[in-house]
Amino acid sequence: MSNITVTHAESGLVHAEVVRRERITPHMTRVTLGGPDVARFEFRGFDQWFRLALPIGDEGALDRMPQRFGFGGYLSYLSIPKGQRPVVRNYTVRDYRESERELDIDFVVHGSEGVAGPWAARAVPGERVALIDQGCGWRGLDADWNLIVADESGLPAALGILRDLPRAATGHAIIELFDERDRQDVDAPVGVEVHWLVRAEAAEPGSAALPALEALDFPDGTPYAFAVGEQALAAGARRHLVRQRGVPKGGVTFSGYWRR
Ligand SMILES: Cc1cc2nc3c(=O)[nH]c(=O)nc-3n(C[C@H](O)[C@H](O)[C@H](O)COP(=O)(O)OP(=O)(O)OC[C@H]3O[C@@H](n4cnc5c(N)ncnc54)[C@H](O)[C@@H]3O)c2cc1C
Repeated sequence: MSNITVTHAESGLVHAEVVRRERITPHMTRVTLGGPDVARFEFRGFDQWFRLALPIGDEGALDRMPQRFGFGGYLSYLSIPKGQRPVVRNYTVRDYRESERELDIDFVVHGSEGVAGPWAARAVPGERVALIDQGCGWRGLDADWNLIVADESGLPAALGILRDLPRAATGHAIIELFDERDRQDVDAPVGVEVHWLVRAEAAEPGSAALPALEALDFPDGTPYAFAVGEQALAAGARRHLVRQRGVPKGGVTFSGYWRR
């Protein structure tokens, strides 16, 4: 579930190749993409996200990917024969360096299931991928303060938003991880307090963040809230904010980034 509005930049389908891979924390792999076409990517910061197309076998199938991933684009994607059709997953731009034409993606290392997580864990320089920009979910609504709730899959989004918020912004960011060692440096406005939480081993995602949200002493006024991560965390945060705290529905952006 999500109420994020998709926007498509003019860049359309951008081709890229793996430049390097680095394990930045025990459960986060950073894959840096580059190549001449990446110069066309329009970086907007915050939690900007995109559809990442990973080839299965034939890299040439990436050339058949649509320019957009709306309804028409999706139908054209489905017309690529199964067995050649690239796998598409959603990811966040962790950072973009225009001068070097480099784009970083932080992938949660979540085991051998799925495609994108395992791909990132073994990606090698030169491998081709493609991406289609989807814009930012963060709407930066005019509010008295800001609230961010995220798990490890939303860490790139949370850190990007904190980095790009006006320095006078105030509020709270609640970030839940499953391993304390996956914390990263934060560049946040001084008025935004960052609460790092670690859920118990094998506990449900959200089992640390949601009680912390419920116990949070809310500043005066109405927040603009952004809640992303495992489906139960994102939906639970939204439910609490709307039902218990009286935040207008339109003041909560939320998205289930993955489903347990
Ligand atoms: C807008 C948006 C931005 C996102 N940005 C990022 C990002 O920057 N970094 C990032 O790591 N993820 C991000 N995600 C989440 C990512 O798209 C999902 O985790 C995706 O399912 C991973 O694909 P996969 O092929 O590895 O696994 P899938 O094939 O989708 O799933 C295979 C299995 O792995 C499990 N699984 C999937 N993801 C996780 C996880 N994170 N932890 C534990 N188990 C998991 C599933 O429950 C399933 O059982 C984002 C999602 C959205 C919607």
